[in-house]
Amino acid sequence: MTENNDLWFDPSKCLINGEWVAPVGGEYLALENPSTGEVIGQIARGQAADIDAAVGAAQAARDGEWGRWSALQRGRMLTELGRLVLTKTEELARLEAQDVGKPLKQARADAIALARYLEFYGGAADKLHGETIPYLEGYTVYTLREPHGVTGHIVPWNYPMQIIGRSVGAALATGNACVLKPAEDACLTALAFADLARQVGLPAGALNVVPGLGGEAGAALTGHGGVNHISFTGSVMTGSMVQASAAKNVVPVTLELGGKSPQIVFEDADIDAALPFLVNAGIQNAGQTCSASSRILIHKNVYDQVVERMAARYGELRVGPAMDDLDVGPLISAKQKGIIDGFLDLGSDLEAAGRGVLENAPDGGNYVRPTLFAGVDAHHALAQDEIFGPVQVAIAFEDEAEALAIANGTDYGLVASVWTANGARQMRMAKAIRSGQVFINNYGAGGGVELPFGGVGKSGHGREKGFEALYGFTTLKTVAAYHG
Ligand code: NDP
Repeated sequence: MTENNDLWFDPSKCLINGEWVAPVGGEYLALENPSTGEVIGQIARGQAADIDAAVGAAQAARDGEWGRWSALQRGRMLTELGRLVLTKTEELARLEAQDVGKPLKQARADAIALARYLEFYGGAADKLHGETIPYLEGYTVYTLREPHGVTGHIVPWNYPMQIIGRSVGAALATGNACVLKPAEDACLTALAFADLARQVGLPAGALNVVPGLGGEAGAALTGHGGVNHISFTGSVMTGSMVQASAAKNVVPVTLELGGKSPQIVFEDADIDAALPFLVNAGIQNAGQTCSASSRILIHKNVYDQVVERMAARYGELRVGPAMDDLDVGPLISAKQKGIIDGFLDLGSDLEAAGRGVLENAPDGGNYVRPTLFAGVDAHHALAQDEIFGPVQVAIAFEDEAEALAIANGTDYGLVASVWTANGARQMRMAKAIRSGQVFINNYGAGGGVELPFGGVGKSGHGREKGFEALYGFTTLKTVAAYHG
């Protein structure tokens, strides 16, 4: 069905209770290659009945063999799974490139990051523990960190492997049984991963995957009474619906909803060092990144120089099919291209300081020219809304106070970076910026599997990645023993 002839799983099925099964309703969705627009296969259109079976399988796993595994066993299994993923890097990358349109080197980096999450959470599984608490005479009090039980994972299409690694990896490490609903536009690596987990001996039902539409399989999962925790990454609108749906069952939710992340370049910044980060953080994965840096705030004294140099880089960016492995691939879907074209139209009266080059881009593919808009007012829609395409805006500022006001002047707060040689300013800004992560003289820290990640404001709540995620995927029980 795809250019990859060695598929080791059936992409048109669901994985439930360790078995590949056809969707109960017998319906399927077409799988499109975003680089060409061609249909390359089909995936299951899972519905409520499939989700119900998956949740039932997860409950049985939680109450059965999986629930009895020690932390050491879980950790070893995840570590071994990480090793297997590494040996499959090339196959996973090619699958992702065809399914999602990622240039191959970016898809490879995602597969390697997935392996790294598994190594990290494999190693962490038996390091998580409760505490003893000094209490009244005659008591011994301690806490236990216990899995929620069944966790639901709604994963978007932009970084399937990385998001599965950080959420499913942490959930399995802590002993939860998972039901994963990948995005309809990006199911292949989720299914491939689940089969690899089966191969290393993950007990049946500990990880179930049901592809399908968000409004059907996704909604059925978030509203299911048998689910004890939900991890969601995606849009603000869908995230708030997911939270409302989970609220009916009083189920905790982790929401990671993207952002409008600024990089702030002061006049004393090392501009040579900053430049690759300024552009790459905006165009990586065609800008379809929750932590994309879509606002570049530049001190007025270096504004022209920075914009000119960024524009020169934009002029060199090559855009084309994922398999050509250029700088920027297609957008995920025609729908997403329509959204980005709408944003580009909004900037038609602005100075476009730089645009990328379309190279050998097939007509049916979802390509847009990466674009840098200069001289943008901080209140313009292009500077306020999450665009989720390869579009950045450059905004000039006068001083630190104005830079901070602009940086904090959106509904979001996921990531920010500060480029300055002034140590006191680094500390002041890091403290004052409202954001889940702040980077000083870098951006993104190369992905940082170890670094807690999540937002404030409309960027969401809860933290994934790093050791912190393990707290989110567990619940704390206090035991107070009176022994006199
Ligand atoms: P959504 O938020 O709608 O989709 C994200 C995930 O949620 C997908 O797996 C989707 O499944 C699922 N979903 C959709 N509706 C429901 C529902 N009612 N209940 C449960 N799950 C549901 O994003 P879109 O794909 O529509 O993209 C639109 C915009 O969202 C983008 O332009 C971008 O701004 C933002 N976005 C942000 C992401 C981030 O990383 N923060 C990731 C993706 C999008 P399915 O795709 O099968 O419908």
